[in-house]
Amino acid sequence: MDKDALYVIQTYTRQPIVIAEGKGANVWDINGREYIDCVAGIAVNNVGHCHPKVVSAIQRQAERLIHTSNLYYTEIQVELAEKIASLTKLDKVFFCNSGAEAVEASLKLARKASNKTDFIAAHGSFHGRSMGALSVTYKEKYRKSFEPLIPGVKFVPYDDSEAIKNAITKKTAAVILEPIQGEGGVNVPSDGYLRAAREICDDSDTLLIFDEVQTGFGRTGRWFGSMHWEVLPDIMVLAKAISGGLPMGAMVAKDSVAQKFQRGDHASTFGGNPLVCAASLGAIDALEEGLIDRSAKMGKYLIEKLGELRHEYIKEVRGKGLMIGMELKIDGNSIIDKAREKGVLLNCISENVIRFAPPLVITKEQIDRVVEILG
Ligand SMILES: *Cc1c(COP(=O)(O)O)cnc(C)c1O
Repeated sequence: MDKDALYVIQTYTRQPIVIAEGKGANVWDINGREYIDCVAGIAVNNVGHCHPKVVSAIQRQAERLIHTSNLYYTEIQVELAEKIASLTKLDKVFFCNSGAEAVEASLKLARKASNKTDFIAAHGSFHGRSMGALSVTYKEKYRKSFEPLIPGVKFVPYDDSEAIKNAITKKTAAVILEPIQGEGGVNVPSDGYLRAAREICDDSDTLLIFDEVQTGFGRTGRWFGSMHWEVLPDIMVLAKAISGGLPMGAMVAKDSVAQKFQRGDHASTFGGNPLVCAASLGAIDALEEGLIDRSAKMGKYLIEKLGELRHEYIKEVRGKGLMIGMELKIDGNSIIDKAREKGVLLNCISENVIRFAPPLVITKEQIDRVVEILG
């Protein structure tokens, strides 16, 4: 920890443990202390830590080919693109290395495809920290020191489709929304919201981007969060759990939109390299073994159990699948410190919301233990 302070640029507020190993929903620190991990790398380790299918896929690919340039074809990148197109019900994929990069790609594609410049995003939105992604991220604290950001972005209240309708102009290229807001505090919209947004975009010839970076790959009990409401975007943005813990992002688009990106319009040196593609296919294979339904079932169980706590500090428990937030009437940081000391890793978003995003392989017994400690 002392050396970190010396050599690593101090942009993170870290909890004071050093994590060394992980398996399933558990991690161990360098002193061998065991924790139940309800952070999961922030909704990344959906298949659990070191899932055998991810580990062996990485091992096999590492011995064959780790990297080559997108100047050439690889079979494994095309295999993964076909798989992701089929899972998302969209057509074509661009690979990159993070959520922010996938958002950047979506904003560039939206401008190119629409020949328009402006964007609409929601209050409470989080889309990443690069200049474009930050421009559609709501939180003043993240933006202030880095202005001017890209112009022409309007923020409207989340879960209010009339506000979208009123904000759209002839210059609006796209509306970007999280199907369920993550960093904004685990905000689940009302049932008609995404469909109304879809119709408003269709009526005004505006593209609809869903940022499924956090809600994707089973986190909410469906493959993708927007599938709870059966609404298809023009562009979907993916990252986090996409490749079982390796850095990868992807932008998926309808063919009619994707076609507007031409050779040379966008690129990434590492994007879709053979090692991450192998890991991603391994992770998807693991998810297909019942983990999506398990997320729905275990999420319901966890919400029910948390609801039984009935403490005066608890304002509300909400979420879908294993993307759950517990809103408190107090700052939650002292609670997550105490939980960690008792063997449960949690984190706090928007100061007063404790987030539960454990690996989807978490067991009932582990959930019972988490709730007991929290109690
Ligand atoms: C985490 C997150 C991002 C940013 O992803 P990075 O990989 O950290 O760049 C973007 N959108 C949403 C919804 C996220 O949760």
